[in-house]
Amino acid sequence: MSTRPRTAPVEVIVAETMQVLEPDWCTGEHHGLHYMVDVGHQGPDVALDFRGRRITEACLTQSPYAEHASRDVEVSVSLTGQSYDATGVYELAAALDAYADRLRDLADQLVAIRAEEGR
Ligand SMILES: [Zn+2]
Repeated sequence: MSTRPRTAPVEVIVAETMQVLEPDWCTGEHHGLHYMVDVGHQGPDVALDFRGRRITEACLTQSPYAEHASRDVEVSVSLTGQSYDATGVYELAAALDAYADRLRDLADQLVAIRAEEGR
């Protein structure tokens, strides 16, 4: 029997702090352990609140080391659960504008109905 200590190869995950390029718009909050592909930058939330309830929020976002998603800066929108390029954000904003007009039409109809009912 050998007196030399035995060794065996063991796979380990070593955590270390890495420095990543930080865009000016990022809040700089990067908590917890990340795989490089999971590193994400996020800007401040732009929220839509109504009567104390959060309807949606959006923010700039980027996953600079993503393997299966875009590495480009995008806007993440919680209302749809998706991220968009500038064209997509403009299209969503136009759809929301149109929806706001439809809501106003409904309010106008409601006012007219209530007026007919004498309320
Ligand atoms: Zn960041």
